[in-house]
Amino acid sequence: MFDFHIHLARLPHKKQLTQLLLNKNYAFIAVACEPWEWDEVSQLKKEFSTEIKPFRCTYGIHPMIAAKVKTETLADLRHFLQEDKHAMVGEAGIDKRYPGYEDGTQDLIFIEQAKLALELQRDLQIHCVGDYMRVLKLLEKAGFKASQELNAPSREAPRPIFHRFGGDANFVKKAIPFGAFFSLHEDSFRKKSTADAIPLIPENKVFFETDADKSFLEPDELAEELENRLESVRAAYAKSRE
Ligand SMILES: [Zn+2]
Repeated sequence: MFDFHIHLARLPHKKQLTQLLLNKNYAFIAVACEPWEWDEVSQLKKEFSTEIKPFRCTYGIHPMIAAKVKTETLADLRHFLQEDKHAMVGEAGIDKRYPGYEDGTQDLIFIEQAKLALELQRDLQIHCVGDYMRVLKLLEKAGFKASQELNAPSREAPRPIFHRFGGDANFVKKAIPFGAFFSLHEDSFRKKSTADAIPLIPENKVFFETDADKSFLEPDELAEELENRLESVRAAYAKSRE
């Protein structure tokens, strides 16, 4: 099992849970999208990620805090990314529910992070609640390029990864030339336009995630719950391709 997006540091009993997931061979990418979370996730990685059972992290600034970000925060983010050569950038993006969506502040913070992903050659985990096409325009502004070829070549990092994907078929067609990956969540199947778009994505560009960030369960139950949630996303995906 591979959970492409989990907020380890926001879950209860995080140390116990991290060890338990690794013991169960539940692979994951630990997402940290606020400064306090960067500290915690990097600590968890130092303590629990081993050569035999490693896990990857992603460090970024979520659009929910974009309007509050200071220049030092971006410098700190760069530091975390330089410390961990395998880390991705993100989750970063735009979200119409939070300040800075209308006035372009979220755009600026996103572009800075997209540039960082290009400069450091890291994949970029993207959060979008709102206009998906705007994200593509922002990626281009940052320097990401779409390939002119009909079938986009498999590229190395930096690739845009649309986490908890909620776009439509038109978006999928436009995003694939950027080398995009799509991480599916159980919610990805709820909206008809997204459910219809999913079968258009090449299978090797599809990943699954829980986006888990809170729970009241004890570690054992929670680990099982995560496995079940991830499995149900995988099953929904298999069904969508029938
Ligand atoms: Zn998330």
